[in-house]
Amino acid sequence: MSHDLRIITNSPSETEELGFKLGRLLKAKGKGMALLYGDLGAGKTVFVKGVASAFGIAKRDIGSASFVIAAEYETSPPFYHIDLYRVEREEDIEALGIWEYMDSEGVAIVEWAERLAVPSAEIYEDAVKVRIDHIDENSREIIIEGVESLE
Ligand code: ADP
Ligand code: MG
Repeated sequence: MSHDLRIITNSPSETEELGFKLGRLLKAKGKGMALLYGDLGAGKTVFVKGVASAFGIAKRDIGSASFVIAAEYETSPPFYHIDLYRVEREEDIEALGIWEYMDSEGVAIVEWAERLAVPSAEIYEDAVKVRIDHIDENSREIIIEGVESLE
């Protein structure tokens, strides 16, 4: 059992840097899933940009097209960014087959993971959970569950 990491960031770039550290870890593992929780404007996409940069993906290529629900990047390992914000019906979320990414090669990161129905404790426990909470204009509390350390 790993304990939770709790970090306060005081700027978007600090959140991005934290995302980069998690991205580095997931890239080295070659597979895995990170579930992101937090309100609109919490900083989930900022965090994802950091994770993605560890895969060599440019920040501007993340979350730029507002209609995209699932984006696949042909990196090594492959990187998947899923944003459930605009998916309204539960059936549509199920149809995305997100939990299947757990078994496949590559790393998947999911924004608005609150909207996912959890399939089984076993699958869910293997995912890294990241919760971002708004403290004030430029500060966020970030709790990461499922990693030992990010250094
Ligand atoms: P979400 O994807 O959770 O809806 P975004 O990442 O799109 O949120 O937006 C977060 C907003 O909060 C950005 O405008 C960003 O500049 C701002 N922000 C201010 N401080 C921070 C911080 N410490 N970490 C992340 N974002 C921050
Ligand atoms: Mg977002």
